[in-house]
Amino acid sequence: MPSPIGHALAGIAAAWAADLLPGDRVWRTAPAPASLYKRAGGGLTVACAALGAAPDLDLLFATHRTATHSVTAVVLVALVAAALAINAGRPVARIALMCAAAYGTHLLLDWLGVDNYPPRGIQALWPFSDAWFISEADLFPQTARHELWTSASMLKNLNAIVHEVAMLGPIVVALWLVRVKAVAGFAPQLSRRHHPAQ
Ligand SMILES: [Zn+2]
Repeated sequence: MPSPIGHALAGIAAAWAADLLPGDRVWRTAPAPASLYKRAGGGLTVACAALGAAPDLDLLFATHRTATHSVTAVVLVALVAAALAINAGRPVARIALMCAAAYGTHLLLDWLGVDNYPPRGIQALWPFSDAWFISEADLFPQTARHELWTSASMLKNLNAIVHEVAMLGPIVVALWLVRVKAVAGFAPQLSRRHHPAQ
């Protein structure tokens, strides 16, 4: 089980990757002098980071890695995001995809990570199957869940976070660079639209 930091990074990466698809991105285009927050996608990107980490809230209810870690939950997130997008007059398919992809990365990371707490893995097909799935790839180290403030737990979690940032950080940076370029590409189009004489 990766840390919330790794999950949030993956959520941001999924949102930015989905938003690179061709289509109606212009509504989110922020001019170059806009704040970093705006250029990063503002509240929607924050929401996707939160969605990436959200499935582990099930720890509070002692039903870890079942319903919240399923494809069913991913579909539900897409439907709710689509409803909110319709309500806000935003591109429905794009926002549903960004949110579902961000949430979906959580399942992917958990599937790829180490899990020393049996039953190992995630109930990805809940409620249609109660099978547990794990890749055994052990790409992301185990995090400590209990006695978080002991030095052993803190070292374990620090090690996990370093691994997550080393693996996901370059992906996020690469997507940011592509995104900045893509968004910059819109600027001349927009200014032509606003100043047809030029
Ligand atoms: Zn999880």
